[in-house]
Amino acid sequence: MVIRCIETKHYRLPLSHPMTDATHGVHTDFEVVIVRLESECGCVGYGYTYTIGRGGAAIAALIERDLKPLLIGADAVRIEQTWERMWRCLHYVGRGGLVSFAMSAVDIALWDLRGHIEGQPLWKMLGGYSGGARAYSGGIDLQLNPDELVEQTRCNLRRGFRAIKIKVGRDKLSEDIARVQAVRECLGPDVPLMVDANMRWSVEQAIRAARAFGEYDVFWFEEPTIPDDYQGMARIAAEGGLPIAAGENLHTIFEFRHSIDIGKIAFPEPDVSNIGGITNWMRVAKLAYAHNLQVTSHGVHELHLHLLAAIPNASYLEVHSFGLERFITNPPQLNDGIMRAPDLPGHGVEFDWDQLRDYEVAE
Ligand SMILES: [Mg+2]
Repeated sequence: MVIRCIETKHYRLPLSHPMTDATHGVHTDFEVVIVRLESECGCVGYGYTYTIGRGGAAIAALIERDLKPLLIGADAVRIEQTWERMWRCLHYVGRGGLVSFAMSAVDIALWDLRGHIEGQPLWKMLGGYSGGARAYSGGIDLQLNPDELVEQTRCNLRRGFRAIKIKVGRDKLSEDIARVQAVRECLGPDVPLMVDANMRWSVEQAIRAARAFGEYDVFWFEEPTIPDDYQGMARIAAEGGLPIAAGENLHTIFEFRHSIDIGKIAFPEPDVSNIGGITNWMRVAKLAYAHNLQVTSHGVHELHLHLLAAIPNASYLEVHSFGLERFITNPPQLNDGIMRAPDLPGHGVEFDWDQLRDYEVAE
């Protein structure tokens, strides 16, 4: 059963409204690169990755120019073998970065294709543990003042969320404290509240912020500083007193190993669309299991839903604000804080090609 056809498409999709975080500023759109694989039996698998607005053309070029030649004719279901071939083929220019994004899109398509060949949903193929995940709302909301944040939080609770994340990292720590306090008071004592600084702070600033947020029972403190400073991350965890989440900017299994062993992160947060796909995401989940840690996710919740539903050490599923809901015909539904994984073959995501067509980027 070999792969006979690969197609790559690149889209620039508008957000419903401008969104702000502490490092990347104002977001107005994001890119999605979609890979379509077809096997000789006529089964089709789709995989995709996304960027926050830059890099998509290079990712599409890596797939088309460098990965396509080794994928055509490859055995469709020998995914570990194909993953290693991709990794070694681009090792010299890779070991993370854009290469991990390109490999992710292909690897997700390989797993989706296998799901169609075998007639199984991803979550069952990957372990079939719970079939669902607890979801939290991942706000990109640094621009909101406390009143606006409370309004957004009430809206998210009405939508069915039972856990909430907000951005922190404004110029004045006092403003962040006021925002965290307002949302905690709105939620009451029992709803988990996460905060995300998007790498804004130095180690000393982050320790100071963590100690201030501790008063409001923060469930995790996400990306307080750059992911590369493993020793600094460990100091923030030890001296700040909050569990640390990180992973959206870690693109290899080895970076996760160092973040857990040296950085002492409590919630590994791999993103299947940039860690090297489902194959490498599952390796991170098993690495976390061996350290008695629960795994969360970043972005593309319609995919991560399957992955968290498959494993025993799942934490919360992020429902990211860069959602594809408007561009897929069957987005997963939230019910009292829980999302159930679909029983369709593969990941089950069905793109709305009519909606996407207007946003395709000509290479
Ligand atoms: Mg984040």
